[in-house]
Amino acid sequence: MKKILVVGGVAGGASFSARARRVSEKSQIIMFDRGAFVSFANCGLPYYVGNVIKEEENLIVATPELFKNRFNIEVRLRSEVLKVDRQMKEIEVKELETGRVYRESYDALVLAPGAAPIRPPLPGIDLEGIFALRTIPDSRRIREWIKTKKVSRAAIVGGGFIGLEMAENLVREGLEVSIVEMLPQVMPPLDAEMVEPVHAHLREKGVILSLGDGVEKFEKNTDGSLAVCTKSGKRVNAELVILSIGVRPETKLAVDAGLEIGERGGIRVDDQMRTSDPAIWAVGDAVEVRDVVTGQWTVIPLAGPANRQGRVAADAVFGRPSWFRGIQGTAVCGIFDMTVAMTGASEKTLLRNKIPFQKIYLHPGHHAGYYPDARPIDMKLLFNPDNGRILGAQAVGFEGVEKRIDVIAMALQKSGTVYDLEEAELCYAPQYGAAKDPVNVSGMIAANALRGDAPVMQWADALKEGVTLLDVRDPADYLAAHAEGALNIPLNDLRSRLTEIPGHKKVGVYCQVGQRAYYAVRVLRQNGMDAYNLSGGFKTGAAVKPSPAMPV
Ligand code: FAD
Repeated sequence: MKKILVVGGVAGGASFSARARRVSEKSQIIMFDRGAFVSFANCGLPYYVGNVIKEEENLIVATPELFKNRFNIEVRLRSEVLKVDRQMKEIEVKELETGRVYRESYDALVLAPGAAPIRPPLPGIDLEGIFALRTIPDSRRIREWIKTKKVSRAAIVGGGFIGLEMAENLVREGLEVSIVEMLPQVMPPLDAEMVEPVHAHLREKGVILSLGDGVEKFEKNTDGSLAVCTKSGKRVNAELVILSIGVRPETKLAVDAGLEIGERGGIRVDDQMRTSDPAIWAVGDAVEVRDVVTGQWTVIPLAGPANRQGRVAADAVFGRPSWFRGIQGTAVCGIFDMTVAMTGASEKTLLRNKIPFQKIYLHPGHHAGYYPDARPIDMKLLFNPDNGRILGAQAVGFEGVEKRIDVIAMALQKSGTVYDLEEAELCYAPQYGAAKDPVNVSGMIAANALRGDAPVMQWADALKEGVTLLDVRDPADYLAAHAEGALNIPLNDLRSRLTEIPGHKKVGVYCQVGQRAYYAVRVLRQNGMDAYNLSGGFKTGAAVKPSPAMPV
């Protein structure tokens, strides 16, 4: 019989506790949370603010009564853990309602205190009307503020997942929404060229974007509204400000207890979630773990890993052989009717870590083109140039986006290669996919490049190297817009017009999205020419804007 205390009762803490009970019927398990809820759906909070989730109670995944009755787990709410006494194996707890402070002993302690929203010490940060969103009471306060103050304009500081979800929900509530983001793009984990359609979609939905502009201070206007004052001198006026510039691991308890803290500011754990004290485990947003692609320590606050870590820690506490495989940042975000998803490393992360990679772009339909309403998915796949191992993938579109990233995520976790994607057997009926699913196509393009059948060239390199650019689209498309200096020989005429292409130079071939260019590359290569497929075709060229000469 073990006595296990758990600090924090949401994603990591609650999944730990429930799993621990399934593993050991005999242990005593007590879960503490300083909030008024356990096991609530943080991820649903933006949709509660936006009234998509209508009832607050729908955010509660499990109540203290359910934990007691179903799992025989005791939950102590409004109970803040103040201190960990490692020598005595005790924690100090404050009952927030009564102020009573008491001690509780443990055989095993699990820290799952999550992360706290970052509040930069900017002038005016404490003005009324500036909120962060982390808990049910936060969302309740935002809803009440919108109602009582008759809010018509909201400014969101930070264009990450939560900022974008809040933008959608506040627009749905009829507010005029501005996003102020220090970086030149929203969705920082994505590579810049992949975000362009997201920016366009947000603007189409009426969201005002101030990108590449940090906040300098907040001020109160004479009419009582707030002004977000940016470094470039802009004033974004609003009655409501949402701060969503990221979170910081909650490490106070761990630091005070002298537990090892890692280089990224999270509690350092081993692959069984054990801290530097063998009687203490830690899980969720508070810890740092290994990135499966880069091998570096990282903090990525996501609910899936927090849940999995909770399960691993529960097994480990009872000596079961479970290990956390590391994190790969698989994530999805809905932005109005658009979906953005990613897994593994981005190009900028690979560059930062000096990890060699090759990349391809593609824009397949989300299902067979012959079936009505196929919509394109913009995809990017990053892989090892020697062995084809998948390093990362990103996708943006309207349908079937996260399904493709989920498949690639699984392949990545199993150290899969682009050859595995090429061969993956996936669901197909016309309304769902294609006989060559976008996942297969991404693998085929990458594998063709690695085998040398159809090497790819990036737009930036094509323009830099002064290669012959060959546009194999129809003349009407070419006349509408083309890369400067490109020859136009439509694919169907290619075999009869080969002599028009200078034979001594590299040939960078493009069509609209890369498929006709692939056929052309095969023709040219078999005729002895050094031909390359310009990755992602003209569509990608327009997004990466390799030079001002690209007429986009
Ligand atoms: P938390 O869920 O934050 O739980 C920590 C708990 O510990 C809190 O209840 C806190 O009160 C308690 N606590 C802290 N210190 C103490 C103490 N000293 N004593 C007692 N109790 C304490 N992730 C996704 O994967 N997908 C999404 O769509 C998504 N959307 C999100 C939307 C929002 C608005 C937010 C805020 C987060 C979202 N996340 C999403 C992130 C996800 O919710 C977190 O990664 C996950 O909840 C982390 O779980 P955790 O158990 O580590 O921490």
